[in-house]
Amino acid sequence: MKKPFVTKEKIEDIVKSYPTPFHIYDEKGIRENARKLKEAFSWNKGYKEYFAVKATPNPTILRILNEEGCGTDCSSMAELLMSEKVGIVGSNIMFSSNDTPAEEFEYAAKLGATINLDDYTHIDFLNDICGIPETISCRYNPGGTFSISTTIMDNPGDAKYGMTKDQLFDAYVRLKELGAKRFGLHSFLASNTVTNEYYPTLAKILFELAVELKEKTGIELSFINLSGGIGIPYTPDKEPNDIMAIGQGVKEAFEEVLVPAGLGDISIFTELGRFMLAPYGHLVTKAIHEKHTHKEYIGVDACAVNLMRPAMYGAYHHITVLGKENEPATYTYDVTGSLCENNDKFAIDRKLPKIDKGDYLVIHDTGAHGFAMGYNYNGKLKSAELLLCEDNSVKMIRRAETVNDYFATLEGYWEV
Ligand SMILES: *Cc1c(COP(=O)(O)O)cnc(C)c1O
Repeated sequence: MKKPFVTKEKIEDIVKSYPTPFHIYDEKGIRENARKLKEAFSWNKGYKEYFAVKATPNPTILRILNEEGCGTDCSSMAELLMSEKVGIVGSNIMFSSNDTPAEEFEYAAKLGATINLDDYTHIDFLNDICGIPETISCRYNPGGTFSISTTIMDNPGDAKYGMTKDQLFDAYVRLKELGAKRFGLHSFLASNTVTNEYYPTLAKILFELAVELKEKTGIELSFINLSGGIGIPYTPDKEPNDIMAIGQGVKEAFEEVLVPAGLGDISIFTELGRFMLAPYGHLVTKAIHEKHTHKEYIGVDACAVNLMRPAMYGAYHHITVLGKENEPATYTYDVTGSLCENNDKFAIDRKLPKIDKGDYLVIHDTGAHGFAMGYNYNGKLKSAELLLCEDNSVKMIRRAETVNDYFATLEGYWEV
């Protein structure tokens, strides 16, 4: 059972000030989860989480996480600027980008961010722009497929990210020649994993690589960045990850591989996005139409512009009809948005209680890669983002777009 963090009564109160659709985030849930993560890795004295800004690029969210000890993982100019604006700078920023424009490397270096290089050729590219910083990281891609026991988790061989092992070792040697003094290793091999084995398996691969690097080149890493990829159970039948077990699994690999090699001072970093925010966000929308043709349709006032994952990946997002939590799911609906795209459906053939016009629907697990992925197709506008504060009050942390925002780039042609 997935239970919303808002009740029907609360939403009826909120819509008096902020009409649907909107995204709402649960501050209490965000903070408690961030604390649990920190505790799970407290055995490692340099541990730090760099929240993947792309998941939920909102300054209020960044500030809350920063208060819980998190930095930011940025990958674009706008993300760097947002991080800077909330006062997260220097080594509190991990700049993990790819296909990076010169001006973004330059700005990241100016902020003192830790730059994570995606490719061997980026060494000279960066060096020509602003020189090689003393602290630098490299992204590794082992190629092939990534498996945990016999299950294929993902396909790094097809991914555009990172360097091969030979390139990686050459990169550290070259970076050292160019003056780098502290080195990091980064890898992201599978996304949205719902298993406690992902991080420990990845960690062991990276730890063994660190030992080999030391043996072959004498270079000792200062940090290993396990990046993102810890998932959440989008469907109600799945068990959530146990972050304490994950932290423990990484600790065991650390003690087995790094400590005996004299590398027990390495800091562990993470760059989680989905795990930090997804369950603590809802997209709240209202049923505005019902349509009975070859199928039963419920039309809502949100669309794929507000949440693209179902249209883009066929992703499942659980839906709760507020006030009907305990009614039997005896109807079968497609829940649709208004785009002129037949993939604009939040749910297909979903068993739900009878939905009436005016009902409020909570679409679950939209706190990460939800609002953020939005676009403006069909001239549809992005919604507001609200924060359910710890004291149960509600604060708007981003206003909804207006048509003037949509037309703003047409100045000279369009005077509103
Ligand atoms: C997207 C991304 C993340 C976060 O991924 P999640 O699946 O949200 O945890 C972390 N690091 C990098 C480099 C990314 O591109």
